[in-house]
Amino acid sequence: MPRLRGRARNIGRRTQHAQLVHDRRLNRTAEEHSTDNVNLRDQVANTRANANSEQRDQRLRVNTLRQRDARQRATNAHRERNQQRMQNHRALTRASFNRLAFEYDPEIDYSSHALIIIGNMDKECQHCHAFKYKGESAGLCCASEKVSLPPLNPPPEPL
Ligand SMILES: [Zn+2]
Repeated sequence: MPRLRGRARNIGRRTQHAQLVHDRRLNRTAEEHSTDNVNLRDQVANTRANANSEQRDQRLRVNTLRQRDARQRATNAHRERNQQRMQNHRALTRASFNRLAFEYDPEIDYSSHALIIIGNMDKECQHCHAFKYKGESAGLCCASEKVSLPPLNPPPEPL
């Protein structure tokens, strides 16, 4: 293996100088921070003013490539999320809803499936006035008035 010389030797190491620069950046005051920013802005402006058209073109090319990469990453992330959503949907469509609660899979987002939305408990039975969910059958509560329970006794005094 060839021996590295000069600066290449220190790549990936925290050198004494790097540590000094790092500490100085951490401990600078707000005023020093803004002075550093102004100086950096001037440096960049100078570099750009003194750059020839070839250097300028190179900088713009790099910027364009970086923007393209960022767009590509965003698109990939979006595609991945969409794919995950589709997989969940397919897994739920494929699966039988019978006994689904006994085969719970934490990877599946059950709440995203349209068939799993049960709505509010706001359907009132016309006979016994019990509140039920939209999907519950008409006779579930009182069997359409065939079952009638006596009213509850008043509770004992401490209650
Ligand atoms: Zn009822």
